[in-house]
Amino acid sequence: MTGRQVVIHSPREIEGIRRAAAATATVLEALVRAVRPGMSTLELDRLAADCIAREGGRSAFLGYHGFPGTICVSVNEEVIHGIGRADRVIAPGDLVSMDVGVQLDGFIGDTARTVCAGGPPVGAAASLLAAAGEALAAGIEKAVAGNYVNDISRAVEAVVRRYGFTAVRDFVGHGCGCALHEPPEIPNFAQRRPGPQLAPGMVLAIEPMVNTGSHRVEIDPQDRWTVRTADGGLAAHVEHMVLITRGKAEILTWPRTASE
Ligand code: MG
Repeated sequence: MTGRQVVIHSPREIEGIRRAAAATATVLEALVRAVRPGMSTLELDRLAADCIAREGGRSAFLGYHGFPGTICVSVNEEVIHGIGRADRVIAPGDLVSMDVGVQLDGFIGDTARTVCAGGPPVGAAASLLAAAGEALAAGIEKAVAGNYVNDISRAVEAVVRRYGFTAVRDFVGHGCGCALHEPPEIPNFAQRRPGPQLAPGMVLAIEPMVNTGSHRVEIDPQDRWTVRTADGGLAAHVEHMVLITRGKAEILTWPRTASE
């Protein structure tokens, strides 16, 4: 059933979405394990293509509004929508955000994580990854039937601010499942209005994008995709798809072989 503000998925749809989301999580987990200094972002993209094929799906991003990559891979000051490139070689300490979308049997999964290449993050990078992860967890905690979208937005922003960082405003989380982007939008900062109420059967991609400096971002004028922090500060991006239930949200993109 498609409403104007939200999409409530049928049990049959939820089963399909669950499988697509699980495949997406498996692919992202493989990328997280593979990423290392010396690798190009194009190699990561190619690996993702192999992994997605092994899952029996195809990229939900490739060709979406003309996007040329299999996944989005965004390094350091790149926030989201980075395109794998042979000449972008990952260096030790780089923050690498990998965003994976898989279409499987007509259903969509969407999940992202940011990792530090070559070892544990230090300094601001460590705080940034902690903030992004905690912000996502805080948002998911509020993703309960009866709450409103703004409860998620407020919870995400509160964590980000507590760390002294900023949440990107120009890009938002979204409903997901039968299409890559379904209503509602899920901003990562508090709104004046409560937004749509959450109900069982909604599937949300909650995805904090956190900057160390200003929340402002710019789109690369050449490739017209890569979103960077305007001030050159570091950014982190994490995303889970969750199914709204009457109790705790079910995280659909949790990796089957958990490494965290
Ligand atoms: Mg998304």
